[in-house]
Amino acid sequence: MSEHSPASAYRGTDYYCDVAIPDPGALEVVHEDELVLAYLHTRPFWQVHVVVVPKRHIASLTAAGPRDEPDLRALLQVVTEVAREMEREHGAAAVLTNLGDYQDSKHLHIHVHSGPRR
Ligand SMILES: [Zn+2]
Repeated sequence: MSEHSPASAYRGTDYYCDVAIPDPGALEVVHEDELVLAYLHTRPFWQVHVVVVPKRHIASLTAAGPRDEPDLRALLQVVTEVAREMEREHGAAAVLTNLGDYQDSKHLHIHVHSGPRR
């Protein structure tokens, strides 16, 4: 598939490495640095829904090892900043990462969300 295909057309298993990270121009990015990308989810599950990913491929939180520590540290810092801003703006926020069969895309991603489920 073309990396410019819309997210809804993606049928692979790593949307982040294949689409979001190489081509964030189509996304509503809330934070980007050399290690981490955060953007408004393209198909939000909650009223306010940001997804935060390490740019370097890490399969999941439980698959991460010592060599991933700089990426995890940077990831947690961005998750904290996004969650703090969301908590301030909406009065509540939650932080979630799925594992195993619950994990759709096999690239570590952290959901930061607030408000009712869509
Ligand atoms: Zn990946």
